[in-house]
Amino acid sequence: MQDVLNVPPANWRQDEEISIFSDAVGQFFERECAPHVEEWRKQGYVPREMWKKAGEAGILCASMPEEYGGAGGDFRHEAVIIEQMGWQGIDGFGISLHNGIIAPYIEAFGSEEQKKKWLPKLASGDLVTAIAMTEPGTGSDLQGVKTTAKKDGNHYVINGSKTFISNGQTANLIVVVAKTDPTQGAKGISLIVVETDEVESGFERGRNLEKIGQKAADTSELFFNDVRVPTSNLLGPEEGQGFVQLMQKLSQERHIIGLQGVAMIERAIKETTAYVKQRKAFGKTIWDFQNTQFKLAECKTEATVAKVFADHCTQLLVEGKLDAATASMSKYWISDLQCKIIDECLQLHGGYGYMDEYPIGQMYTDARVQRIYGGANEVMKMLIARTL
Ligand SMILES: Cc1cc2nc3c(=O)[nH]c(=O)nc-3n(C[C@H](O)[C@H](O)[C@H](O)COP(=O)(O)OP(=O)(O)OC[C@H]3O[C@@H](n4cnc5c(N)ncnc54)[C@H](O)[C@@H]3O)c2cc1C
Repeated sequence: MQDVLNVPPANWRQDEEISIFSDAVGQFFERECAPHVEEWRKQGYVPREMWKKAGEAGILCASMPEEYGGAGGDFRHEAVIIEQMGWQGIDGFGISLHNGIIAPYIEAFGSEEQKKKWLPKLASGDLVTAIAMTEPGTGSDLQGVKTTAKKDGNHYVINGSKTFISNGQTANLIVVVAKTDPTQGAKGISLIVVETDEVESGFERGRNLEKIGQKAADTSELFFNDVRVPTSNLLGPEEGQGFVQLMQKLSQERHIIGLQGVAMIERAIKETTAYVKQRKAFGKTIWDFQNTQFKLAECKTEATVAKVFADHCTQLLVEGKLDAATASMSKYWISDLQCKIIDECLQLHGGYGYMDEYPIGQMYTDARVQRIYGGANEVMKMLIARTL
């Protein structure tokens, strides 16, 4: 797949260990996942045993220090996992969320005791994670969350509902965004870990939501009715830090979406080039029309620009220098481009492109949400504009 764009490897890719890791991860996805993706799409989730297999293969928590059960890598390892999944069309397996978003929250803000308790189980796949920010009444405006966590002795009592939660049907460790002080806006927000296997009562999962794309991903409503969790499940030294903690880590989440976009663009161009070279119309292949070549040339050019920019953002992230505005550019610009390129590629497939059994049709519906989740692209532009 690397040969689709011929982009010279970025500095961070030139480490031999990264390319060996990338190949091993690719082989794992090819062997263990690719043959089952269709089945997962039909059932609407990735089976739990796959998490254990990914844990055994060293793919879960690849960037987590070894002392917490991780593989001791860094974000470069996460970047190549994301890339391999995109190249091979492993949609719906929420590893990038687990590894790249939730584990880092616990690593960055958890106490030593919390890290020792949870992170090794995240790395083994015994704990599958989710982050519950969005509610039926609020998504983009996170300050408006209504879920509350009230202290009662040495417990928090959580009440509220969440929606659109990825890994929502399978997760047994959920980071819940709740107001510990509902009289405050952002300053009243805290992150509280709910271990669903430990909860006695009041926690319910809603139905697995039916989506237009990313069919193998389980996405759910979650309900909290007087759910009691120990106060020691608060992330961070004190209440009210949740909004700041989210803001600190959202840059990584946003760049992950950009990386997913580039990988899917590469796959779309590869699939489409192969398709148009064998499909015939008017006595020649679709490739032979100059329009097809021009369209794919445009796609390849834009994809190359995107890949170089995404690699640059990865380098910044590894160096701890990826700021919110630049991460927002990766998320918004690449996801917009992804939808545009996949649309062009679908057009070149004609009616077959519209069929769900063709990868390009699946990519078309899978891509659309990239412009919405992780912060809508309009919100990304607000963050970028603030720096002008
Ligand atoms: C498949 C999927 C998976 C998801 N996974 C998770 C998850 O794991 N955890 C989680 O917490 N959430 C998750 N989400 C929720 C996602 O992050 C939200 O849908 C997203 O943040 C937008 O919130 P909203 O849907 O409430 O839209 P709204 O906030 O209602 O916004 C609707 C639209 O209004 C526009 N808009 C909003 N604000 C502005 C603004 N300031 N300026 C200009 N225009 C604006 C945008 O076009 C936006 O798309 C997921 C969503 C989907 C669809």
